[in-house]
This record gives sequence, structure tokens and C-alpha cells, in this order.
Amino acid sequence: MEELKKFPIGGVHLPEEKHLTTDVPIEKMDFPDKVTIPVQMHIGAPCRPIIEKGSKVQRGEKIAENREDLSAAIHASISGIYRGMVTRPGVDGSEIDCMLIENTGQDNSEILLERDYDPKNPEPNDIVDIVKDAGIVGLGGACFPTHIKMAPPEDKPIDTIIINGAECEPYLTVDDRLMQEKANTLFKGLNLIIKAVNAEKGIVASEINKPEAIKAIRAEAENWDNLEGVPLDTRYPHGAEKHLIKAVLNREVPRRGLPMDVGIIVNNVQTAVKIAEAFYEGRSLIDRVITVSGRGLEKQMNLVVPIGTSIQDVIDFAGGITVDNYYTIIGGPMTGKRVKNHEVPVAKGTSGIVVLSEEEYSDAEKRVCIRCGKCVDVCPMYLPPNRITAFVNNEMFEEAVIAGLDDCIECGACAFVCPAKRPLLRWIQRGKAAHQ
Ligand code: SF4
Ligand code: SF4
Repeated sequence: MEELKKFPIGGVHLPEEKHLTTDVPIEKMDFPDKVTIPVQMHIGAPCRPIIEKGSKVQRGEKIAENREDLSAAIHASISGIYRGMVTRPGVDGSEIDCMLIENTGQDNSEILLERDYDPKNPEPNDIVDIVKDAGIVGLGGACFPTHIKMAPPEDKPIDTIIINGAECEPYLTVDDRLMQEKANTLFKGLNLIIKAVNAEKGIVASEINKPEAIKAIRAEAENWDNLEGVPLDTRYPHGAEKHLIKAVLNREVPRRGLPMDVGIIVNNVQTAVKIAEAFYEGRSLIDRVITVSGRGLEKQMNLVVPIGTSIQDVIDFAGGITVDNYYTIIGGPMTGKRVKNHEVPVAKGTSGIVVLSEEEYSDAEKRVCIRCGKCVDVCPMYLPPNRITAFVNNEMFEEAVIAGLDDCIECGACAFVCPAKRPLLRWIQRGKAAHQ
């Protein structure tokens, strides 16, 4: 039997709940009556509107930008009238600035990006420029502008691109379905990243709990000399960049370092698909696939959703909520955020909406540590979560930092195994926010 790649220490096996949507093909949701598109959906400088209030916009039209390099342009996800700036709740409860576009029922055909290159023989700049024009960011949730990642400094040569298809969060099946349905587009996107940074090879890595996806990427890899599909063992958090790199290539990214320090760039599955769609079809990043799941919903689905659609509109499209008590989580239940207000818009980094019934969710109270050490055993960063959180809860932030607070990758494995159901991750997040 084939030996599966995995990171060496720590991590947990989670209840996956992916069976709810792994066989559900990606479907397009209807255009909503309005979208509220956040002007900051990426790491870097926020965008500013470049259209006048009251003007007509066409789906695909650029509507906001910031000329700083570390930013990502924004395009209209539906056609209609731009009604001006409004505020909406963000996933962290803060108010965020958004552009409101009202759907007036006009033609929703898409304006495509201008392209001036030979697609069979592009220069690296052609690829990076179209990725920038398309407003593509890392769609795994990090939201780093992809054109910056595709132009590493000269002293950081890149030999390998890894596509992160681990998708180890419970419930989410976005990458799983994209690998099954769009393996060819994914590999084309990967090949473009390789060309842009002059790398030698590319690897699409996915956990073995997605057998159909593994089959699809391995079959597609047969058509390419320099690209490979690699199965991983199923263990959370394989999707964390440093753990993925250790598992796939046995390279250690230094503490506080980046994958490019060891010759690697990691991109998410959907990001690579969007790169290919921008380059070959001229499509900007105006919609994304998300998983809509959990037993609190009538239907569990994988949906293409226009950016800026409210969580409520997506939930309505999935048949609505069928239980009295529920918990809505944006992202997956391990690293996602619970939201109470369903006006939160879907942003470029939104990977899923999970509506859990009360039984599925245990909202842990502050409980006493029984010193079992399980959280230390599973921490993939070799941290002592019990000590760090003890410092945080006593407002001893300096000590918490010395114990490793800032090295935590917020995977949530410690909270998952804690028999006392202590909300360790939430406390760690609070500690980080308090000391910065
Ligand atoms: S301390 Fe951080 S990195 Fe370690 S298990 Fe907990 S959440 Fe994950
Ligand atoms: S797993 Fe929970 S109870 Fe056990 S040592 Fe860690 S914090 Fe304490």
C-alpha cells in the first residue's frame, strides 16, 4: 500500500462531516436583489470607489482600486445601479465599508478583462499583470494579493509550487469539488504560476479522505510532465502552510519565515482555478465557490456566489434554517468565526457558511484545566496552549508572548481535544488582539 505523506508530530483526527456535500456538484446561485461589496477584502491597502454614486455598472466592471501594489482591485459582481457606500457587519462584529449595487434586472453578461498577450507563449509579466487586473487574492482565507506572491524577490528563487488541496476543516468541500470538476483548469492555473516564477515543478496535494478528488488530480497529472498529484494522510491541520510543506517535501519553514525562504510558493486550489480563468477567459474575481452546510439548513450545497451577497441571501437559497436554535459560522468550525447578524457579505476570502444545530455545537463555558496535557500533545507548533491561555486570561500578555502566543497558527486542534471543553482558541485570539 502507498505510504501517505504527513507532518510528523501533533495534529488531530476530526469528525469530518464532509459527506453532507462531497457528492453535491457545484451550482450557481441566482443573482441577488443587491450586493454589498467590502472595499477591504485583502491584506494591504483598502480600495476606493472609482465610479459615481447613481451610475450604471456592468458585471465584471472594475469599480474600486488602490494603486498601491499591496492591494487587489474590485469588480462588480452583478449588473445594476451603484447606490453609494454603506456599512455592513464584518465577521468579527466590526462595521465594514461596502459598495451597494442594486440589481435592476439589466443584462448580467460579464465584461471581460483586456488581454494583450499570446496565451501559448506568455511572458511572466503577462501572467502577473492579468492576475493583478483580475483582483485575485489567496482564496484559502489569507487574502494576500496573488500578484505579489507571484513576483518573489530575486534572492528567493522558487523551485516548487504546491497547490493546497488539503481542505482539512470539517464540513468544507469547495476544493474537493473543484478538484473533481475542474482538475484541468486547476492544472493550467498551476502551470501559469510555475511560468510566472520560473519554478521547476508543481504539486497538487490533497488528503486521502477526498478519494474522488485524488483520482481526478492523478488522472490530470498524467497529461503534464512537471505536475504531480500527491495524496496526504487525513490529519488536521494539514492545510496549514508550514505543515503542508513539511508533509509534502520534508522542508522546514523557519520560525517567522515564509515558504519562499525554502524555495516554495503555496497557493489554494480555487486561487489557481481563478488564475487560469483570468488568463484564458479574461474573468475577474467576481464570484467564488463556497460550501453551505450544517444540519441547521434545509439543503447542503456547493455554490458559486457573487461577491457581496449577504449570508442571509445564501441561506435562503439553500432553503433556509430549519431549527429553532442554531449557530452560524463563516468558514469552517475550527478556524471560522461565529456571526449573529446575517447581513455579513460574502467576501473573496469566504470559504463556507456552516449553520450548526444546537446538538452540533458545544459552546464551551470557561472550565477548569485538569492538566491532562492533551492540548500540548496535539499542538502542531509544539506550543503549550494551556500555559498560553492561562497567561492571557490573567492579562499577562508579555508572558503569553514568551510562551509562544504569536507562533500559534490558530488551527484550533487544542480546543478540539480538550476534555474540559475549554475554548482555548478563542482565548488565544483574544490574547493576540489585546496585545497588538
Ligand atoms: S496553540 Fe495554536 S497552533 Fe497550537 S493547537 Fe492550539 S490553536 Fe493550534
Ligand atoms: S487539554 Fe484542556 S484540560 Fe487538558 S491540559 Fe490542555 S487545557 Fe488543560
